[in-house]
Amino acid sequence: MQYPDPIAKLIDSYMKLPGVGEKTATRLAFYTIDMDKNDVHTFASSLVNAKEQLHYCSICGNITDVDPCVICTDKSRDRSTILVVEQVKDVMSIDRMNEYHGLYHVLHGVLSPIEGLGPDDINITSLIRRLQNNDEVNEVIVATNATPEGEATARTWPG
Ligand SMILES: [Zn+2]
Repeated sequence: MQYPDPIAKLIDSYMKLPGVGEKTATRLAFYTIDMDKNDVHTFASSLVNAKEQLHYCSICGNITDVDPCVICTDKSRDRSTILVVEQVKDVMSIDRMNEYHGLYHVLHGVLSPIEGLGPDDINITSLIRRLQNNDEVNEVIVATNATPEGEATARTWPG
């Protein structure tokens, strides 16, 4: 039996999520159909709002709904240090530990010659520009992951 079109489309949508196969997508689709109508509307608008209202901070590359982001504009933070991380989720997890109080720069990836990712493919140029126009920063900490690509990115650091 074929699913009615709206269910089939919902299953297809869930299958676009990472790690969600057809079985899980089908379970989620039927769960969604049974959900309270208001909850479904809230869920759908959360998806759309997150996609439409969020963008990358023009200074640090963190994800934000205001530009510059709240970290870049926070005057209470230590503006002499920039911690360079691979992904937005690294900012979130490091900041949650509440031990680092400086600024961030998100690369959105790492150098990977094998995958053909060079300096132009990650957010390095904006960091160099950021450092050139800045007398406050006196320390840049490269906190890329301990993968071969992460290590290579840290090693080939300009300057
Ligand atoms: Zn920022």
